[in-house]
Amino acid sequence: MIPKPPPREPSLGFLYIPPYRIFGESVAGEGTCLQVPELDLGFDIGSCPRAILPAKHLAITHGHMDHIGALAYFCSQRRFQGMGNAKIICDTRIAPAIKRMMEGFVDLERQRTPYDLIPLLPDQPYEVKNNIFLRGFETEHTCPSFGYVVSEKRTKLKPEYLDLPQEKLRELKDRGVEITRSFEIPLIAYTGDTAPGPHLIREDVRKAKIIITECTFFEPDHKDRAKVGMHMHIDNVAEWLRVLECEAIILVHVSRRTELSYARERVAQIAGDKAANKVHILMDYRTNKARYEQQLMDAEARESGRAGARAAASVPAPAPAVTESQDE
Ligand SMILES: [Zn+2]
Ligand SMILES: [Zn+2]
Repeated sequence: MIPKPPPREPSLGFLYIPPYRIFGESVAGEGTCLQVPELDLGFDIGSCPRAILPAKHLAITHGHMDHIGALAYFCSQRRFQGMGNAKIICDTRIAPAIKRMMEGFVDLERQRTPYDLIPLLPDQPYEVKNNIFLRGFETEHTCPSFGYVVSEKRTKLKPEYLDLPQEKLRELKDRGVEITRSFEIPLIAYTGDTAPGPHLIREDVRKAKIIITECTFFEPDHKDRAKVGMHMHIDNVAEWLRVLECEAIILVHVSRRTELSYARERVAQIAGDKAANKVHILMDYRTNKARYEQQLMDAEARESGRAGARAAASVPAPAPAVTESQDE
């Protein structure tokens, strides 16, 4: 008998919540890394699959190994593949330790891997893309920890100027009158590892279109374990869901011991059928794959519907029947 080959590595978890793709891998205690390509942004780097490398910015939530263990490798691989310096965003409280860790590799490798470290204070905005801002906020975990919210800044004409003609608006603007007001729309919030707390009901978290949150425990008798490790339990998510305005909530950091079918069952139980539709588990490949295939079919149907409508529009309409009055 020849020995068995090693187990096949699972592929990345993937969800498409228009207009964003969210993918990565995440298992509690083992490794979490996420990416949103449309925002050029990744979160955490506990492991570093190739698909994660393009993230221009990487926001680190905290220093647990399963969230930061592959950071040096990420910076080095980006450099090796000619992708430019990694831009690492973190909580100011952990920036010195990250620097020391990276210095350790300089000694080990006898070469310096360049990277840009961007420490943020709570609520200090950082522009990751044009008009797209990232902010960190303190969460509650067993070490200093940050969650993040990505918001889009938009400007709108103030209501009192809405009816004015263009030239009048231009004239006001030239005179230095502030005719617009700006506001922010929270797009994505990511909690990192955290116990429930007031940070979860911040206005921008509550109103974020997509929420990515850890949910480490699902079993009813694991509530104490969640408390000790300062993690979220599915019951905390259920309570939180009631005040959230999000279109989708993505659960990550599920422990390996949790069967996905059981996790799905628990989600349906605690959230009710209607809300359960917006709760996704990142690493539930089978459900997410079926969902994506349905999205593809819907898009195709829409496309062929549009093509049909276009074709119908381009056929010349039959000439209106003319009733000729013979004798007039
Ligand atoms: Zn973790
Ligand atoms: Zn942690």
